[in-house]
Amino acid sequence: MGDKLVIRNIGMILSGKIEEPIFDGDCMIAEDGRISAWGRAADLDCDGADVSVDANGVTLAPGLIDSHVHPVVGDYTPRQQQLHWIDSTLHGGVTTLISAGEVHMPGRPNDPVGTKAMAIAAQRWYENLRPSGMKVHAGAPLLQKGLEEEDFKEMAEAGVRLIGEVGLGTVKDGKTANQMIGWARKYGMQSTIHTGGPSIPGSGLIDADMVLETGTDVVGHINGGHSALPDDQIICICENCKAALEIVHNGNERAALLTLNTARELDKLDQIILGTDGPAGSGVQPLGILRMVAMLSSLGDVAAELAFCFATGNTARRRKLDTGLIEAGKAADFVLMDQAQHAPGRNLLESVQLGNLPGVGMTVIDGKITSQRSRNTPPAQRLPELV
Ligand SMILES: [Zn+2]
Repeated sequence: MGDKLVIRNIGMILSGKIEEPIFDGDCMIAEDGRISAWGRAADLDCDGADVSVDANGVTLAPGLIDSHVHPVVGDYTPRQQQLHWIDSTLHGGVTTLISAGEVHMPGRPNDPVGTKAMAIAAQRWYENLRPSGMKVHAGAPLLQKGLEEEDFKEMAEAGVRLIGEVGLGTVKDGKTANQMIGWARKYGMQSTIHTGGPSIPGSGLIDADMVLETGTDVVGHINGGHSALPDDQIICICENCKAALEIVHNGNERAALLTLNTARELDKLDQIILGTDGPAGSGVQPLGILRMVAMLSSLGDVAAELAFCFATGNTARRRKLDTGLIEAGKAADFVLMDQAQHAPGRNLLESVQLGNLPGVGMTVIDGKITSQRSRNTPPAQRLPELV
């Protein structure tokens, strides 16, 4: 402890705050893993750094948050028999993953006691082991027939904070789901729902009526995972939900743009959050969140600095996380990135708004450097350096 990180020569600070997405300053200071100060280096106490970084003019943003992943154990997914997908995702600028259910566990239990046991175990094994430093919020049980209020209380007391996608368990009707989500909420657990057609054999359709009746905190993949609902149902959800409207990479891009445009008309851009839904049938998507930012910014005509808020501050606020925002006391989780080499545009924001990915140069989690030049993004024009 007592660790001090000083990052100088920052070209631009993205705040994660949709009401003020760009902060003035060229320097960021973190102490004991928390943001302590930022602004002009000349005005800050930069002495006594344990770790110094010369940002070399690149942009600093809060580490990206993936609101929708399906981890199973460690850095391995049985879904596509793939190792190190989480490390690859870190190289895509993501520093926090939120489980929407450990659904790909082979032989996953569907009875109440097995569901509880696995949720508690999954919460523990990702708390005890952060692959490559990644924060993984997991332990997201599915709603199963036979779960009682006492079971939610027991899981919450054991540290389970999430409910996985409603509809993927044995509870398929809105009335039962609504009752269980009420119990979960009573004990401080957050919930999400599978929206749209079935993802893979064994999952089912969740339409707008079921989404509205169930009343989860997040409308999981409102653009389908992969099959989207008809347009009128997506619009109906946008109009009637105060919940987070989650757009995912593993979904329908046209429905993603419909959601974005509808939310903008309704003045609800603060409800838009992003996920990948990976690992999924479509694979793992190490650059999925950056690709969503670039896609929504370019095709959805959203300023890039606002699109980055969908992947940072919006998600953090909706999910009640202590990351995703440049704010004193928040976790010092950052991504440093620059315009990709030979990407058109005068700067990083313009190149993203033209649909290009940025190049990631470094990630920081809890004030510690977790990766340097990304092996996955296009190479950045400039790179931050450890000094
Ligand atoms: Zn789903």
